[in-house]
Amino acid sequence: MKNLCILGATGSIGVSTLDVISRHPDKYKVIALSANTNIALLYQQCIQFKPKYAVVVNPDKALILQQQLAQANITTTKILSGTDELVSIATLENVDMVMAAIVGAAGLLPTLAAAQAGKTVLLANKEALVMSGQLFMQAVVEAGATLLPIDSEHNAIFQCMPAQYKAGDVAKSVRKILLTASGGPFRITPIADLEHVTPEQAVAHPKWDMGRKISVDSATMMNKGLELIEACLLFNLSPTQVQVVIHQQSIIHSMVDYVDGSVLAQMGNPDMRIPIAHAMAYPERIDSGVAALDIFSVAQMDFTPPDLNRFPCLKLAQDAIQAGGIMPTVLNAANEIAVAEFLNETIKFTDIAKVIAKTMTNFDAGIIENLTQILHVDQAARTKAQTIIAELNS
Ligand code: NAD
Ligand code: MG
Repeated sequence: MKNLCILGATGSIGVSTLDVISRHPDKYKVIALSANTNIALLYQQCIQFKPKYAVVVNPDKALILQQQLAQANITTTKILSGTDELVSIATLENVDMVMAAIVGAAGLLPTLAAAQAGKTVLLANKEALVMSGQLFMQAVVEAGATLLPIDSEHNAIFQCMPAQYKAGDVAKSVRKILLTASGGPFRITPIADLEHVTPEQAVAHPKWDMGRKISVDSATMMNKGLELIEACLLFNLSPTQVQVVIHQQSIIHSMVDYVDGSVLAQMGNPDMRIPIAHAMAYPERIDSGVAALDIFSVAQMDFTPPDLNRFPCLKLAQDAIQAGGIMPTVLNAANEIAVAEFLNETIKFTDIAKVIAKTMTNFDAGIIENLTQILHVDQAARTKAQTIIAELNS
């Protein structure tokens, strides 16, 4: 029996994780769940999975959930509130595995705390790793934590790595990796039309059903940029060893190219329950609930290089990892602000890259020193991005 804490239980990844768990009540027990504000869904999850703890970040909503559960005579779950409690549930003594599925920088502290406590960390929250870089990877090594990637591409790469491979190790005999991307909803939209795309068009992903922030990131291909940085950290690679490949069918989830010319790929239907089940059961295999791949209905697979004029955010991420130091922290922070403002309809889709580029020019890469510095840079980059947006709109 493995005991789990799910950070971000009410999101797309959280819900898929609970779906896999519900198929294996003999193998997994939910100890703690968290949500930002969605108490309607968290209420249902508390009734179904009976966690010992549920954290609602918003205190008012936490109180409402507590009253609702009391009225329903559910006394099994203790309701907590505030961001500090995210760290508490991620480091509980009896928790074995922590699913890090909060979106954005908000997930850094509890995810890092889980790593420092030596847990098995199932990492979906790529922003936490991108913004903290080597600091996070060192914490994993020092605490003897196990880091398993959930991002479908990184999980695919991990599956294609040599036996016994651990995240952070130098991958012996690996020449490069091929990081696949669907190309998102605007893969072939005329570039001149991108200026006018709406949030609803941007979040309508052709292949994957995901949260709004990562859906916009997929549309700009910043998601692939963040994943490039994530791959360099997880697999100890230089950016030149990562080739982004547009593969619109999203059947191959990434590939590993070895020195002998062998290229290993992991394939499957585009459903996050596959990487989630893989990481939860690792090194065993369990049923994920995903239908078997029908290779005849796939029939054809296409591979093309990305066009950096169409996707300037991918180029900015390449520049950030090349610059190193805190530049990925700045890139991530500016992107979070720009995406939120695009979703608010305060800036245009094409302004996202402009805001990030301009924010980056205001910072020196330097080196990553400590957590305080990272949190400070994250905040400073957010403030700078907001100023740039205000100027853009004045
Ligand atoms: P989502 O928006 O559907 O869910 C986000 C979760 O985080 C929710 O449970 C929400 O309550 C919580 N949350 C949001 N803001 C918070 C805050 N300030 N403090 C605490 N909790 C907060 O997002 P998602 O699509 O499930 O993505 C989660 C993470 O997984 C992201 O980092 C994303 O990049 C990554 N990821 C997602 C997918 C996918 O298919 N959805 C695939 C690969 C990686
Ligand atoms: Mg991905």
